[in-house]
Amino acid sequence: MTSPDADSKGFFGDFGGAYVPELLYANIHELQTRYRSIVEDESFVTEWKSLLRDYVGRPSPLYFSQKISKEIGIKLYLKREDLNHTGSHKINNALGQALLAKRLGKTRIIAETGAGQHGVATATACALVDLPCIVYMGEIDMGRQAPNVKRMKYLGADVVPATSGSKVLKDAANEAIRDWIAHPEDTHYLLGSAVGPHPFPEMVAYFQSIISEEIRLQLKEHEGREYPDTAIACIGGGSNAIGTFYHFLDEENVKLIGVEAAGEGVGTGKTAATIASGTEGILHGSRTLLLQTEDGQVQEAYSLSAGLDYPGVGPQHAHLATTKRALYVSVTDSEALEAAQWLSQKEGIIPALESAHALAYLKKGEFQEGEVVVLCLSGRGDKDMATYLEEVS
Ligand SMILES: *Cc1c(COP(=O)(O)O)cnc(C)c1O
Repeated sequence: MTSPDADSKGFFGDFGGAYVPELLYANIHELQTRYRSIVEDESFVTEWKSLLRDYVGRPSPLYFSQKISKEIGIKLYLKREDLNHTGSHKINNALGQALLAKRLGKTRIIAETGAGQHGVATATACALVDLPCIVYMGEIDMGRQAPNVKRMKYLGADVVPATSGSKVLKDAANEAIRDWIAHPEDTHYLLGSAVGPHPFPEMVAYFQSIISEEIRLQLKEHEGREYPDTAIACIGGGSNAIGTFYHFLDEENVKLIGVEAAGEGVGTGKTAATIASGTEGILHGSRTLLLQTEDGQVQEAYSLSAGLDYPGVGPQHAHLATTKRALYVSVTDSEALEAAQWLSQKEGIIPALESAHALAYLKKGEFQEGEVVVLCLSGRGDKDMATYLEEVS
């Protein structure tokens, strides 16, 4: 059995744990000991499920892509997280944690964001539940992702530039952790992916597991069975992927494939493929695989896709890679760009550049004739139009 949960110390095999400064210990301990009973409480479940339905628009459809199925020789189902309110899977987690923060009695939310998608989802959830929201964002990312900065501000959030280090996502996460240390009592840190100290990876996976919970029911309708042959998702920190894998982890017959962003290529030094080229170390509170120099300095990740250029990966994915329960592959910028246009013109669906990495693998991977493949279309591509247009002209 592959349990979706961490062990009692917060580890998935050799990876995970909670490597936090002493000043955060009380916060982390509170979350570790209280979150399960809160999220499994009937009143929480009722509120959470009704918001997922009426506010987020769930269940998200499972769409059979006839044309791509025919082209590749498989049966391809797209899990349409792009149709969620705010345009990606991130709202599932943001909303779950915002409701949790309320029940923990917190009065202030902080978050980190890279591309701004998690920032927008968090600002949205905070508006809904009436909590003030501070989003840390690398100064460079704020320039690159200006429309999302405007969106967050319009939703009522404070966006604070992270000006340290290389001024990107990892630096924003460092700033958020610093803020949390300074405000341990009243603040919840609403982390955006399945990374960070225990219980974040487990908790974020739990909130995103709604993806595979729905896939099972929807596949049953379409195919008469609850399991695909293969499930595919892209990997930044790994939250949409773990949500897609969650209810299939102990079904050994289901092939699980995570697609990392190779950037310009694994081995070029301009990559975000952490599992392909990372080594063990500690990043943002957990032991995992990360891009680092020989003397342990975190290296900058690179991907054209701002949502995937993180130098670490969730500890559960590091574990699934090491035990070979899941297969991790990578796709370059140019392969992802090509796949984005492919889906747009074949199906009339413009995918997020992140999701396009998962799609690109359909052309690279080996599949059995007629196998059932579920692919998580993690978000919509409106935010990437400028990049797409630049690349085709
Ligand atoms: C943030 C984001 C990702 C990457 O994050 P994960 O935690 O790995 O899921 C993927 N797709 C979209 C659309 C995103 O916004």
